[in-house]
Formats: sequence, structure tokens, C-alpha cells
Amino acid sequence: MVEWFVDSHAHASPLGLGYEEVVRRFKQAGGKLIVLVQLTPGSYGFESNLEGVVRSLEVHVGLCGRVRSEYGSVLCFGGLHPAVADRLARSSKSVDWVLAEIERNYMRKLRDILIGGLLDGLGEFGRPHYPAPPESWALNELLLVKSLELARDLDKPVHVHSENSGLVTLESLKFFVDKVGVPRRRVLVHHVPPSQVPIYSREGFYVSVVGKLEVARSVGSECSNVLVESDYLDDPRRPGAVAYPWEIRREVLKAVEEGSISEHCGSRILALNPAEFYGTTG
Ligand SMILES: [Zn+2]
Repeated sequence: MVEWFVDSHAHASPLGLGYEEVVRRFKQAGGKLIVLVQLTPGSYGFESNLEGVVRSLEVHVGLCGRVRSEYGSVLCFGGLHPAVADRLARSSKSVDWVLAEIERNYMRKLRDILIGGLLDGLGEFGRPHYPAPPESWALNELLLVKSLELARDLDKPVHVHSENSGLVTLESLKFFVDKVGVPRRRVLVHHVPPSQVPIYSREGFYVSVVGKLEVARSVGSECSNVLVESDYLDDPRRPGAVAYPWEIRREVLKAVEEGSISEHCGSRILALNPAEFYGTTG
């Protein structure tokens, strides 16, 4: 087993432990690389309106940039979570106005920040994992397409949040990704239930699964495109949700020790696959 590991999708919030403490604890546990993905505006103390979304991007870029330069081993991802787009779609403004404003005020800013090198990738974009009004679904799909266009134009990885409906989700993602022309290997379908891992990886997508023993033991032997994430929310109201970034290696090791997955797969999902996906070296 390789000694180091990567947390492929985590969050930090200034209202929780904070960026610095999360990264410090992760590195102390032997973590090599942690991908910090922008949270919803409420996690930065802002309202879920357009201004809150823009400000949360600014705060995330500032805080993540600081830990990235101070500690290294950090990648910073920015996006518009489907739950936030859903909130915007349900607001008193028309959804047409919301889309135009997001394009004008947010996506352009995101593009500039990516070009400036203060962000390393895009995420999360996609669709909500709960029932939402049709206009919210449509808005989210349009934003997903726009994020894929950015990923293509700027050659950046993108994290997709989805409803995880199996083949239906896979086929619709294939449609968007191929139509836009992003290589599938640049797309990470995040927080995938282990039973759905093979359908995505066989089609050339990367997937990430939560670094918990019960999940890791179900990954099986098809581990070529699987990454591990904590999806840590750093939310003081939900401590430890979804997993702690500094505990994911231990959880995967338990699955290896009990013989549920091979050592080879343990090393692949914790370290070698993410290194491939993010283009870093061990
Ligand atoms: Zn997440």
C-alpha cells in the first residue's frame, strides 16, 4: 500500500474548523493532496441570493488560495452547487433573469479566476439529488453545460453532483459531456454509491466514493477510475459529516485488511487514481 493519500472532494467553512485547521489536520494524518470545493453561501454566512453566491466565490478563493500557498497540497475548486441554483430558481426573480445574471456576474468571474490561476478546477455543478421544480432542473442543466464548456476551453477538471439514478444519469451525462466535447477523463462524478461505480468507470468517467469502511468494502475489483472523498462539510451543526478528511485512509485500510478490497485497489483509489485525475505525481 502506498503511504500517502488524496481527499478528492472536501469542503472547509469559516464557520466550522476553517480552511487552515482542515488542511493542517489532513496533512498531519499523511494526506498528500486535498481538493477544497466551494460551499453554499450559508456556509460563509451569506444569504442564498446572487450577491451571496458571488461573495462566497470571493471568500472561498481568498481562503483556499491562502492555504494553498502556505501549506501546498491543496487544490481549489469553484462552482455553483445545484442546491444553490435551485434556491435561486425558486426566488421571487424570474428564472430568465437569474440565468442572465449568473452568466453575466458569476460565470464570467469564475472564468477570469480560473484563467488567473486562483482556482484549479470547477465544481460542483450538476443536478439536485432531491425533487425540485422543473425550472430549477433546466437552470441546473444549462449551468452544467456552461461549466463543461469552461472545462473544455480552459482544460480543467470538473466535479459533477448528480441525482445518482444509475443508467439514466450516466446516459444524460454522456450526452452533455460528449456534446460539449470535454474528455470524459476530465469529469469526476462525485459522491457515487458504490453499486453505480462500474457503470461510470466503464464509460471513461472518474467517480469518487465516500471514504467510509462500508463504502470502501463495496468498491470491489473495478477500481481503475475510482477516487475517495470525505465530502467533509465542516458544518458545526453536523460535525463529522460526511467523513473527516484525515480519517479516509484509515477507513480504506480497514477494507483492505479485512480482505474486501485488494491492496492494489486500496492504493489506486486513495492515491494513484487521484494523482492521474488531477495530474499530480506521487
Ligand atoms: Zn461536496
